[in-house]
Parts: sequence; structure tokens; C-alpha cells
Amino acid sequence: AKAAGGNRYELADDDSNARVIARHSLSNGLPSALENGEFFIEYQPLVRLADGTVRGAEALVRWLHPVHGVLGPDQFIPLAEDTGLIVPLGRWVLEQAARQARAWQDAPEGEAERLRVNVNLSPCQLSHPTLVSDTVAVLENAGLCPSALCLEVTENDLIGADEDALRPLRQLADLGVDIALDDFGTGYSNLSYLRRLPVSTLKLDRSFTRGMQRAPADPVDVKIVEGIVSLAHTLDLAVTVEGVETAVQAEHLRMLGFDTAQGWYYARPGPPERLHTLALADAS
Ligand code: C2E
Ligand code: CA
Ligand code: CA
Ligand code: CA
Repeated sequence: AKAAGGNRYELADDDSNARVIARHSLSNGLPSALENGEFFIEYQPLVRLADGTVRGAEALVRWLHPVHGVLGPDQFIPLAEDTGLIVPLGRWVLEQAARQARAWQDAPEGEAERLRVNVNLSPCQLSHPTLVSDTVAVLENAGLCPSALCLEVTENDLIGADEDALRPLRQLADLGVDIALDDFGTGYSNLSYLRRLPVSTLKLDRSFTRGMQRAPADPVDVKIVEGIVSLAHTLDLAVTVEGVETAVQAEHLRMLGFDTAQGWYYARPGPPERLHTLALADAS
């Protein structure tokens, strides 16, 4: 038993060593990755539940690493945040996404005029002094209307933010940019706090809708989610749900009154051209 325990620790040590080394070599490669064009963006459709049409897409960044292959954001965004690279990387994502949204809108088919784009903001970007001017410049350069952009910030990044910290977001909201509270429900913001935030959309974390993947749905989950939807609508906020994986779940969520949904059931994140195909398919 002791030997087995020792083995387990050895494995754990090896494992964490490998992780430290990987972390180290990944963060060394980060700055040049941006210069070398190793990042790319996949887009995952957001579907309007009332009529099933594609409303837009969330931009999700990936890193095509020369040695490790495609890395997901969970593997490098924390490193980019620690090293400060998240600011130029985030600006690059915003630029690409804005240009892409404009391209969708410019497509000759014309059916895609309503397509919008969601971009994730990290806390370092939120507190960066040039967030508002950068965003305005990006929108102008892309020729994109502010209302075609939604910036997603997590609930936890805003908890405790005072009026000064919220000012840049409020300025962007006043310009017409949609602000969504991402991963909603995983933090502890109370009702009165929610009212003070310059947000127009709540994006419910997928942990809340796991109990609805199969019929019958977990009745407690349904009650909680019902409460959140009615709270959001009372506050005049739109509600989006993420992580929708099954048809059963999609139908539950539509009946519960969600405005938009996102998840593998509709489409996995993919190349930007695919979004246009999907939008055209549901418009016909
Ligand atoms: P998020 O903003 O909560 O994004 C949703 C994540 O859920 C994405 O993971 C997406 O691929 C995944 N997902 C979508 N549908 C389903 C589903 O039906 N089932 C399941 N199990 N998962 C689903 P991804 O692409 O790995 O991104 C992870 C996180 O990385 C994002 O979470 C976001 O916080 C962050 N991230 C991605 N792109 C950026 C970026 O450009 N900037 C910043 N700051 N963060 C980013
Ligand atoms: Ca997000
Ligand atoms: Ca989320
Ligand atoms: Ca997340």
C-alpha cells in the first residue's frame, strides 16, 4: 500500500514537473506567437430561440503551436494574462472579430446583415487605460456599428468593481456596445449589484443547464433557472444560455424563455465561413 502511495506521489510529481516545464516553454513562445501569426479564431453561432435563426457568433481564440498542435484558450489565456500579452492578443482578437463581422454583413447574399460578434474581455483589458479608445478605433477601422459588437466579461471580474472601474464599460455601453455578463451564476453578485452594472445580457453558465440534458429535467434545476430568467427579464436584460448539447435541453430552455442559446447541439466552434452558411440556411 505504501509503495502504491509512493508511486502515486511520484506520478503526481512527474506530472506537475511536466506541467511546469510545459507552462514555461509555452509562455516563452507566446510573444513570438502573435508576431508569427500562430493564433486563429473559431466562431460559435448564437441562435435566437424564438425562431431558430443565427444571431451572430462568439469569437474563441486558439493557438496553432509549432510543436504541440492546436491549444485551447484554457491552456494559454492564463499565461497570457500573467505575462501581459493578453492586452495585445485581446486587441488582435477584437480587430479580427470586428473585421469578420463586417465581412459577414457585407456578403452579397445580404441575408447576413443582422449577424453580430461576441468577444471575450479579460480583466487586464478591462482595467487597461486605452480600452475605450482602442475599441472605438477598432470599430471605426472595421466600419462596424457598435451594436454589432458584444463584449463578454465574467461576473467574477466585475464583483467588487466600483464606479471608477465600471466607467469604461459604461462608456462603451453608452456608445451602443452590448455588454454581456459571462459565466453568470458562478459568482455571487446580488440583485441590487446587478442593477448597477452596465450590462444588457446575462449569459448563464452551463453548469445550470446540465440537469436538463435528458427528460425529465431535474425539477430543482428547472426552478432555479426559471428564477434567473424572470429576474433577468424584470431587469430588462436579455438571457443567453451556453453549453446546450441536446435537443431535449434546447426545447426546455426555449420554453423557459431564454432569448439566445449556444452549444454543440447547434454547432461547435468553427471557421468563419461556416457561420455564413448556417445563417443562410436558416434564413431560407
Ligand atoms: P467561455 O467564454 O465560457 O466560452 C465557452 C466555452 O464553452 C468555449 O470553450 C466553447 O468551445 C465551449 N462550449 C461551447 N459549446 C459547448 C457545449 O455545448 N458543451 C461544452 N461542454 N462546451 C461548450 P473554449 O473555446 O475552450 O474557451 C474557453 C474559455 O477561454 C472561454 O470560456 C473564455 O473564457 C476563454 N476565451 C476564449 N477566447 C478568448 C479570448 O479571445 N479572450 C479571452 N480573454 N478569453 C477567451
Ligand atoms: Ca464567453
Ligand atoms: Ca461562459
Ligand atoms: Ca468561462
